[in-house]
Amino acid sequence: MIPAEFDYHRAESVDDAIRALAGGGEDAKLLAGGHSLVPLMKLRLAAPSLLVDISALDELRGVETENGTWRIGPGTRHAGLQDRDDLGVVAHAASLIADQQVRNRGTIGGSIAHADPASDLPTVLLAAEGSVEAQGPSGSRTIAAADLFEDYLTTSLAADEVITSVTMPSLDGWSWGYEKFARRSEDWAMVGVCALVKASGGQCEDVRIGLTHMGSTPLRASAAEEAVRGGPLDAERIAAAAEQAAEGTEPPGDLNATPDYKRHLARTLTRRALEQAAGA
Ligand SMILES: Cc1cc2nc3c(=O)[nH]c(=O)nc-3n(C[C@H](O)[C@H](O)[C@H](O)COP(=O)(O)OP(=O)(O)OC[C@H]3O[C@@H](n4cnc5c(N)ncnc54)[C@H](O)[C@@H]3O)c2cc1C
Repeated sequence: MIPAEFDYHRAESVDDAIRALAGGGEDAKLLAGGHSLVPLMKLRLAAPSLLVDISALDELRGVETENGTWRIGPGTRHAGLQDRDDLGVVAHAASLIADQQVRNRGTIGGSIAHADPASDLPTVLLAAEGSVEAQGPSGSRTIAAADLFEDYLTTSLAADEVITSVTMPSLDGWSWGYEKFARRSEDWAMVGVCALVKASGGQCEDVRIGLTHMGSTPLRASAAEEAVRGGPLDAERIAAAAEQAAEGTEPPGDLNATPDYKRHLARTLTRRALEQAAGA
């Protein structure tokens, strides 16, 4: 299908993009890789009156690692993350997104701002307790991932705010596992699980578990975290904790999976992701 008519502005800087957004009102939208927004426009599920193109802004691209923190430019494409061994679970999750053509265009900022609960990187951001820096007409603010994802395709970003940085702790001393289940390789996740584990002497000192596609936003599997935190990281304890992975969730049923099947997947994938993180 053909999108509804729209105006187009190629931003020359972040400040220029914010000015254009603010001038364009509620119907103005940023365009990064276009791999989520343009399909919606073609289906006429989105009809922005103005597209502000930030895809050529070098200032929004790149990765810096300093003081135990990864600072990732939102315009960094999945392809720019997928082969970076130093980015651990971020690189791995990026490598599992769709196919290489999508990864060559799609950006981490677009994925996070779009807030599709089936997306992989928002779950990693939530599990890692990361944040985004958002800049608008009245300045910058930091939004923790836990306060960012509000509902299906809905974030706490204002219409005239641009994500200028994605920040995550580099989690030195932590190990990770990311499990994604899809009907065909390169599909969206039916369910995905990101497990981050800090262990010492076979004991789990701390743990964070993020769930993909188990609700209208990415979620933390708090009951499973509680069940594994502070105890031995053995197969029995991991399996028992994973049984609680779906607690409190209300996953949407769809063509691929019923809610019950998704709960089953969450339990199974949590066990696998924890085992992977624990090296079990
Ligand atoms: C066939 C296909 C399969 C896919 N499979 C997967 C998958 O398995 N896993 C997965 O995680 N994703 C998947 N995706 C989504 C893909 O990762 C998208 O690229 C990504 O979700 C959006 O990034 P984008 O740069 O294309 O954003 P765009 O489509 O350009 O923008 C998306 C939204 O984010 C906003 N936005 C963009 N940048 C910023 C910014 N800096 N600040 C504020 N708002 C911003 C836009 O205004 C828009 O509302 C798939 C996409 C396709 C087409």
